[in-house]
Amino acid sequence: MLPTIMGHPFQKNKPLTMKNTIYKQLVAEAKQQLPLEFSALLAGQDQEITAFYPAPVSEHSVDRFTWKPAQFFSTLQKIRHAGLQWQGIIHTHPVTDAFPSSIDVANWHYPMLSYWIISFSTEPETLVLYKIEAGTWEEYPFVIV
Ligand SMILES: [Zn+2]
Repeated sequence: MLPTIMGHPFQKNKPLTMKNTIYKQLVAEAKQQLPLEFSALLAGQDQEITAFYPAPVSEHSVDRFTWKPAQFFSTLQKIRHAGLQWQGIIHTHPVTDAFPSSIDVANWHYPMLSYWIISFSTEPETLVLYKIEAGTWEEYPFVIV
């Protein structure tokens, strides 16, 4: 993977932001997948998330999400061709709360990137941002802009 594709969303002097239009689209598409999980790669520049790239519906499940390597890398190519950087990932918890599962934590290998969970266990949904590193996670502030 080329270093230039990797974003640096966690910056000390600026909050991580997600465009409101992107968030609204994410929630709408994720709701269409219920009761299955939805996941997408997030892209943008600097500390801003400005685009998302959903996983194929066939790869969704009710209790975990996985990206096949070929799909993952072709999506990274799309992000690069759009002139953006990979900023992180988002997935839904259709019925559980917005905390990372043990599987979520074990399967995440990009501590420099943002890790978002939308939970539909609440109404309206809950969005939480995490930084997951070396088997531990912490919640991170963000701003919808
Ligand atoms: Zn999860």
